[in-house]
Amino acid sequence: MSSIAHSAIAVTRPNRLTEALEMLAARARSDAPVRLLAGCTDVLVEANHGGLRYRDFLDLSGLRSELGGLCWAEDGSLHIGALCTYSELLNDADAQLKLPMLCDASRLVGATQIQARGTFAGNVENASPAADAAPALMALDAAVMLRSERGSRTVPLDQYYQGYRATARRSDELITSIIVPAQPGPVSEQFFRKVGTRAYQAITKVGLSARIRRDGGAISEARVVATSMAATICRVTAVEDALIGVQDLCDDTRRRIKEAQTSALTPIDDVRSQADYRNEVFHRLVMQAVAQTQS
Ligand SMILES: Cc1cc2nc3c(=O)[nH]c(=O)nc-3n(C[C@H](O)[C@H](O)[C@H](O)COP(=O)(O)OP(=O)(O)OC[C@H]3O[C@@H](n4cnc5c(N)ncnc54)[C@H](O)[C@@H]3O)c2cc1C
Repeated sequence: MSSIAHSAIAVTRPNRLTEALEMLAARARSDAPVRLLAGCTDVLVEANHGGLRYRDFLDLSGLRSELGGLCWAEDGSLHIGALCTYSELLNDADAQLKLPMLCDASRLVGATQIQARGTFAGNVENASPAADAAPALMALDAAVMLRSERGSRTVPLDQYYQGYRATARRSDELITSIIVPAQPGPVSEQFFRKVGTRAYQAITKVGLSARIRRDGGAISEARVVATSMAATICRVTAVEDALIGVQDLCDDTRRRIKEAQTSALTPIDDVRSQADYRNEVFHRLVMQAVAQTQS
């Protein structure tokens, strides 16, 4: 374990996961939480804006052998290590074939430099309502693996967010991996769209990550995850329910789906966009996702 102390901050860099967990446990006991660092692409932005909540950091970069990379399990699930970057996923041929939605999301996170440093775990834990990777993971029914000295637990990603920037992680826990279950259906079920001010390098104004399965022409299962439409990214179960049984998009069906959306989501006006625009664009994205699975 190495440490760097500076008048303003202190950074500890453990070489083993057990050391990191010991430190997290000790800090949790003394009510002096420490901030975890992975790629640092979110934390540094906070620092530049003078908003750092902590002065003590635990740098995870020495744990690459235990938390790095990604691997496919025999059951077809993908295990994304806590230090796995977007670039690593984009370089994986199986991910391109089986999880195009997650690759599309990864390609749209910042530019190449950010994709080479930023991690999926950092994106999930940062809990931004405008995040890009976390909603794609949620639509794929991913789960977050948490570990502490007390043991391990798994939290489905759709239960991970507890409010604006609040997650289910306890202060003595860290994310060790994110698990994406095998996707039995065809990849045409997967849909990811991000709408921003520009095509690339933009913060999401409205986003949809969806998975829509059909059985004999009618929709039999749906995951609809909204970005920048609420205080957290979230599944829109009212829209998922409204989609079940839908074959074609007649006017009545469109109206019913829109009503379900407006009953469930209350986006806000902010510096990036307006509630009315967000509602309209999100509805159009849902219609696009449904149309994609018709073809
Ligand atoms: C120029 C720029 C462009 C960007 N563009 C986008 C974009 O288009 N879309 C997008 O979604 N994001 C974007 N981001 C945000 C950021 O790059 C991503 O959210 C990235 O995935 C964060 O990962 P990281 O490893 O850098 O996290 P870090 O900054 O290291 O950490 C982020 C948070 O997660 C916590 N954390 C990290 N690892 C763990 C762990 N293992 N267990 C528990 N907590 C952990 C940290 O304590 C911190 O709270 C951008 C950032 C920059 C600077």
